[in-house]
This record gives sequence, C-alpha cells and structure tokens, in this order.
Amino acid sequence: RRRAEGDADAVANGLRHTKKARPSPRLPRQHQEVRRQLPVFQHRDNIVTAVKTHRTVVLVGETGSGKSTQIPQYLYDAGLASKHKGSSGNGTLSPRTICCTQPRRVAAITVAKRVAEEMGSELGHTCGYSVRFDDQTSPSTRVKYVTDGVLLREAMADPMLKSYSVLILDEAHERSLQTDILFGLVRKLQDKRPNDLRDAAQLRIPGRTHPVQVYYAEESQPDYVDAALMTCLQIHAEEAPGDVLVFLPGREDIDNLALLLRDWLAKLHREALQEAAAVGAVVAETPSAAAAQLQEGLVVKVFAALPQEQQLLAFTPAPPNTRKFVLATNIAETSITISGVRYVIDCGLVKQRSVVAGAGMEALKVVPVSKSQAQQRAGRAGREAPGACYRIYTESTFLALAQSTPPEIERVDLSQVVLQLKVIGIDKVDQFDFVSPPSPTALIAALESLYLLGTLDAAGDLTPHGRRIAQLPLAPTFSHLLLASAEPAFECTAEVLAAVSCLSADNVFFTPTDQEERACATASHRAFASADGDLPCLAGIFEAYKANMHKGQGGVWCKQHYLNARSLARALDIRSQLATILRRLGGDPESSCGAEVQRLLRCIAKGLSLQVAVRQPAVSVAVGGQSSARCYRTVRGGKEVYLHPTSCLFGKNPPPRCLVYAEVLQTSKQYMKCVTAVDPAWLTELAPQVFRKQSAATAPAAANSCAPRLK
Ligand code: ADP
Repeated sequence: RRRAEGDADAVANGLRHTKKARPSPRLPRQHQEVRRQLPVFQHRDNIVTAVKTHRTVVLVGETGSGKSTQIPQYLYDAGLASKHKGSSGNGTLSPRTICCTQPRRVAAITVAKRVAEEMGSELGHTCGYSVRFDDQTSPSTRVKYVTDGVLLREAMADPMLKSYSVLILDEAHERSLQTDILFGLVRKLQDKRPNDLRDAAQLRIPGRTHPVQVYYAEESQPDYVDAALMTCLQIHAEEAPGDVLVFLPGREDIDNLALLLRDWLAKLHREALQEAAAVGAVVAETPSAAAAQLQEGLVVKVFAALPQEQQLLAFTPAPPNTRKFVLATNIAETSITISGVRYVIDCGLVKQRSVVAGAGMEALKVVPVSKSQAQQRAGRAGREAPGACYRIYTESTFLALAQSTPPEIERVDLSQVVLQLKVIGIDKVDQFDFVSPPSPTALIAALESLYLLGTLDAAGDLTPHGRRIAQLPLAPTFSHLLLASAEPAFECTAEVLAAVSCLSADNVFFTPTDQEERACATASHRAFASADGDLPCLAGIFEAYKANMHKGQGGVWCKQHYLNARSLARALDIRSQLATILRRLGGDPESSCGAEVQRLLRCIAKGLSLQVAVRQPAVSVAVGGQSSARCYRTVRGGKEVYLHPTSCLFGKNPPPRCLVYAEVLQTSKQYMKCVTAVDPAWLTELAPQVFRKQSAATAPAAANSCAPRLK
C-alpha cells in the first residue's frame, strides 16, 4: 500500500483506503443469487475446464453477461490461484495470482470493488486492483484487476510475469494500444513458459438480449445536448417506466445536460403534483397514468474522471417510482453495465485520442462513432427487456458511419510503448508480433521522438537516460521534464513535480455551472495566473494548497478559491508516488528554484522541447475570425494551433512569441492547453539535438528552420 504525506483532507475525501479488521468469510447472500442468474454461470464448468486444458481461451459473450466479474472468481474457486512450483525450479511452492486487465481505470476499479464484495473480501485482500497511481493490492491478493498499462509496466520489471497463473485480457475487441501490445508479449511469453501459463480454446456465451426499436432524428440536430434534453423529457412524459442511458462525448456535455435536465424534471414534477392535486378524483380513476406523470427523475453521471463513490451511484437502483437518467461517456458502452436501462439516447459522438498526421502531436478530438459502436450503444437498452434507442442523428448519417473504429495502434503516438518494448528487451520493434502492425511512419515518428529525447542512441538502442525515463509512469516527454528538473543547472524539482502531478490528476480548477458564480470563479482563478504560463501557475496553486492543507484548511481554502479539493488531494498523492521513484533515480524532490523562476522556465523549455509553437506574423493568417495574433505554428510538423481560452496566457498583450505546450485539444481548431512562454534562444542551447544551432537567431519567426534532425 502506498501512503501519501499525511493529509487529513484526502482522508476526508475518501481517497485513502485504510485496512480494517479481516473480513468475515461469509459471502453476501444477496449477491449469490444475482451471480447465479448471470448468463456466464451456466458455462462455469466449461470455462474452468477450457482454461485448465488449453494454453489460450478466447471467450466471446455479450456485454453484461458476467465475464469480467465472474470468470476470475470461477478460476479462483477452481484452485487456479493456488500454490505452484516456483519457476526458479528450487521446489518452493508459491501462490500465484489471476490477473484481469481492463483498458480503462474506472472499469478496473469498479469491477474490483464489486468482485471484492461478492467474494466477501476487503478490497485489497483476496481481490484488489492496481491502476496508475493507485495500488489497492497486498501480498494476499489472488484476483487482481489492473489496467492494461499497469500490466505492461509490470512486464518491464518482470518480463516473465511470474506472479501470475492466468492472464485475462478483457475487452480485447476494443483494441486498445496496450492490450494489443500485451497480446504480442503474452504470445512470446507462452513460448517461454510452455508448461505453466494457462492457455486457450474458443468459447461462446450466448447472450440474453431483447429486441431494441431504433428511432432516428428526422433532420440533423444543431445542438446535441439540447436534442438529448428534449428526448429525455419526451421519454419521461410518454414512455413506460425504465431507466434512460444517454451517451455524450465528454464531461462538459454531461455536466451541462445534468444541470438542464434536473431543472426541467423538478419543474415538471412540481407541475404534475399541482395538476394531480387539482383533479384528485380523476387521478384515482386512472392510477397508472397518474403514477407515470408523478414519477420523479434522478440524474446520475458516469465518466472516467468522476470520483468513484459517485461512479457507483449509477449502479444503485433508482428509488420506487423514480426514473433514473444515466448520463455517460462511452465507458458505459462496454466497460460498465448498468441494470434497469430500457431507453438509450445516442448523440453519435465520442472523444478520441489521435495523432495529428505529421505533427508529432496527439489531439483529443470529438469524432462520430462507428456503426458497431452505435449498435453496441443501442444494445444497452435491451439487456433485461425489449427497449428503445433514440439516435439524435439521421438514418443517412448512421449509414455513412465507418463500420468499426480503427484500433488505437493505428491512430495514437507510439513513443511510450516503443520505449517499454525496448526496456522489456524487444529491440527490433518493427518485427514485434503486433495484432495488427502500426504504420512504418508512426513507428519512425516514435523512434524519432525517443531519439530526440535522448532515450535511444543513433543505433536505436536504449540509453541509460531512456532506462530512467521508463521508470516513471508518465509520457516520455513529462518524464524527460521531471528528470531535467534534477539537473544542477535547473534544480527546480519541487516546482516541476507539483505541476506534473496536477496535470496527472483531474482538472484542479472548479467551474460552477451558475453564470454568476462562474464569473467569481474566473476572477478567483485569474489571481493565480502567472505571466510565464500555466505550468508555473499550477506549481504555485499546488504549493499554496499544500501550505493550507498542513494548517488543516485545505478544503476550506479550495472552496474559497474555486479549486477542486479532490483533484488537488489526488495530485498530492501522485506527487508523493512520483517523488519516491525520483528519489530512487537519485533526484531530490524538494530541490526548489525559489524566486529564480528563470531556472524553472529554462527547465520546462528543455523538457518540452518537442512541443514548441511559434507565434505567426499577423499578416500570415486570419482564420475563422480568431485574432491572428494568437495563431501559432508548431515547430514539429508546422501545424496551425491556437491558445486555449483556459490558458493563463490567453489574451496576454503582447502574446508570447514562443511557447511550449503540454497537450493539444481539437474542437473547431487545434488548441494548445497548458502552455509556458519560453525564450527561443534557450531551445538551441538546451535542446541542440532538436534545434539546429544556426537557427538560433531566427527561431521564432522561421519555425521550419528549426526542424528536428535525425542522425
Ligand atoms: P461483462 O464483463 O460480461 O460485460 P460484467 O461481469 O462486467 O459483465 O457484469 C455482470 C453484471 O454485474 C452486470 O449485470 C452488471 O450490472 C453487474 N455489475 C458489475 N459491476 C457492478 C457494480 N460495481 N455494482 C453493481 N453491479 C455490478
């Protein structure tokens, strides 16, 4: 178990899980009956036999049939986690663990919690989970849920994955980057562990699904949040009881719809009550219609960054005579099954990470779903009874959708996994046994980035710096930044660690939905702005939070300043975990630049030297009404990018000539988020492998002359 620096606030926020007395072995009765009802239960013996007799088992079944929660328990009950002969061959018997991977951390956490409950285990004892920055396992854990990224990381330390008897790669059809890589690794591993790692056959669990009536919008909807709201209200007013699941691309839309929907539902309920009181006798004559009218509405949200306690609310059945509206991102498509849903509203969009071609950068984009995603979403309405799906786009839009989503390996930055493969000892990454190979261009781009960061040498071999970078559970650029902060020239680890921890947590700024309050929040946030940019600003906020927290006032202080206490508590936890790794790597997490901010800025320039953008001369662009003064061009790839309005440098006059960015968000344009102003002259000095010396004088204006070179 990891512990952060003593923080009362974090404990109050439920972040820490303290060990209680050993659980009673009695299994919760109510769960046993539910478990027996799941479709997978009928196939329990077949599954166990298949796993015992084959090297690989491919299991296909409907979402919600019980694969993730039940199968690890069946295998555990069948003794597959019991003591094995140690692979060292010294004859000692050591217990092994059943490991189940999930592409999403929220799924790993919620499934583990559920299974721990079903097994009558305190979370982290027999059943636990391990996701980035949150490890809830102990030596007694035998059923362990992990994100695919965590297992890949474990493979770096132990390429044979010796502690596991069974590896379950769940949601393999989703083709997440890390699951794909794990497939290749596991196949390699099976060759090396022929006798003891369990293997496979094909099994199918027939689903229990009911027909779902699909409705389309008659014409394109200009505002999908508004259209979703109308559809929710229409269902609530006209349709039989049953919960509603609404798919939206992201958290902002979910927050907006929740606010509108709660208001409307409360209003409608009040009106219905008044009407019922006015026609009292009539109500008694038509009880079902009256009951439907008087039904209350309960709105719950589900998205990855939502605190776990609130996440679990979605699973709680609505109180009697209440219709539950679950507003979710695509995590409710396959990862999480919510019972009681009869109606699905699908806006047809999803947020997706993908590289901007040729720019060496990734952007988070809202894109149309694929046909198979739309079908999967509709299917959520027919799990328990016939249902209905309302697509708030036209049928011709649906017909024009791509059949399926391209696997992640075809659309994301590969530098982190390429580095991990190198650490695992797979030198010729182009010859790795990929489920489907990435494009040579993507592989070369990853190798180039890794070379420019100094993690690979000219021959493509791992450098000592690369080995150190790989130990940090961050994207290579951020690890590079963190390690740079420990160099004698910078010594600003405290500040960089604070900023990077905030970036790894959820948004630390709290934005109220109420307009007036929002203005107060914006003013309050502006007080933290730094003239140098968002990373120094985050570092400042974090330090102030820490100081207040040590005085026992963290929560109050956050409230006063419209900051998200939960995110900051999490950042504090992440900070202490990164600090531990950094100490191991010889850094001093407390070394601070104090008032010498330039040391910090130079360090950021060096660390993020692959993510530089240069302001364009005012004449060169005038796109979409955006002030041309704010148009920038990335040095790598030469893409046009803009300052995100949430940046503290947004609107600064004059705007900085040259800056580094932490991420890019694509909506109508490509926006740089979390930016820091840097002096272009530093770049040639501090990142000579990226910037040619001769371009020093002209760097800001002539972005293309700073193109990276590869030896
Ligand atoms: P699959 O992996 O086949 O999609 P799961 O094992 O995830 O299915 O889910 C099986 C059932 O358990 C579903 O009906 C789901 O609603 C229920 N379930 C899963 N997690 C929870 C939870 N945290 N709380 C309540 N019910 C849950």
